[in-house]
Amino acid sequence: MDSSIEMPVWPQYDHREKELLLDVLESRKWWRMNGNKVDTFEKKFAEFCNAEYCIALTNGTHALELSLATLGIGKGDEVIVPAITFISTATAPIYNCATPVPVDCDPKTFCIIPEAIEKAITPKTKAIIPVHMAGQPCDMDRICEIAKKYNLRIIEDAAHAHGAEWKNKKIGTFGEFAIFSFQNGKIMTCGEGGAILTNSKELYDKAFLIHSVGRPKFDKVYKHLELGSNYRMSEFPAAILLAQLERLPEQNKLREKNAKILDNLLKPVEGITPQSTDERVTINTHYMYMFYYDELMFNGITREEFVQLLNDNGIPSYICFPIVSNTDFFKEGKFRSYLSKIDITNIQALPNAERMAKEVIWLPHYLLLGNEAFIKHIASVILKIKEKVLVSML
Ligand SMILES: *Cc1c(COP(=O)(O)O)cnc(C)c1O
Repeated sequence: MDSSIEMPVWPQYDHREKELLLDVLESRKWWRMNGNKVDTFEKKFAEFCNAEYCIALTNGTHALELSLATLGIGKGDEVIVPAITFISTATAPIYNCATPVPVDCDPKTFCIIPEAIEKAITPKTKAIIPVHMAGQPCDMDRICEIAKKYNLRIIEDAAHAHGAEWKNKKIGTFGEFAIFSFQNGKIMTCGEGGAILTNSKELYDKAFLIHSVGRPKFDKVYKHLELGSNYRMSEFPAAILLAQLERLPEQNKLREKNAKILDNLLKPVEGITPQSTDERVTINTHYMYMFYYDELMFNGITREEFVQLLNDNGIPSYICFPIVSNTDFFKEGKFRSYLSKIDITNIQALPNAERMAKEVIWLPHYLLLGNEAFIKHIASVILKIKEKVLVSML
């Protein structure tokens, strides 16, 4: 391998994480209620996203569950979600006794299709959870219009989109809530963590109570004003996130630059078609570099075999999420006491999602933090595999 090629690593850290972590350790204030790191992170993250309020949480899954609970969405309600997403987008409604309704995604941007949302609306529909897929913001103009027309709440699932922008406006304040994840693979991370943003004081106050077992901020007398759970973040992950946030804007820029370089290098490769960016998107955070893989152009080597070859050649890669309603627990109706059964025969046709679930491959975002030699190396590995499999056809 060319010596100028640097294989990027993830997660990244430097002296900032160390300083901030040590600060927490030595302060003996490890809990958000007596320390200041969680408070400071919430303030800085809200500012970064131009939002009024932030609550740091245990993880992104809890962030979705908390948002729905705060909005009072529950039994008998329907929540529209994209068919292709990480499972939590669809399980959070179930945990609140509501029914997730998966709809189709755009074959180019991989985001939920606004017209498909509109078609799925029934008198029971209460909310939409658009997912900014791989860091590409959804068409928030149309989604906000639809929400207004039918009086629906919006919870943006921005687990991939920290710092992304739709038409120069930061993702995170288009709806009642936006949720973020700081899990190990995400573009800023503390191992496990999450957050919600909102511009509503009333929703913030209620969400704060629910995330802290119903207790007001400085309660010392066991006051429980709401039914809640414990979704509080501790001071240690918040310390790491403060440092991660300082690095994020620069990393978002580098990923955009490198994604464009990789797009151009892969353009001539028949059988590889990358996710495309809507031209109204001003920042795409590229949490995943996603592309269709056509096995016919690779001598019948299956997608799974191709992913294995990429991994064998030092390029970490994965297959796309399944359609949420095609997961085992969903198909078998194992919803415990939450819902008796979701009638999956009622789900709209999902032809684009089916193709994505079958043909899409993704590379993790940190590969796009490599130097230019590494980006060229990714393309050359793909080309070399292609040459090899085509030669073996002769
Ligand atoms: C990662 C992710 C989540 C859940 O976040 P966790 O912190 O892992 O619980 C939710 N939605 C999407 C789209 C995700 O990718």
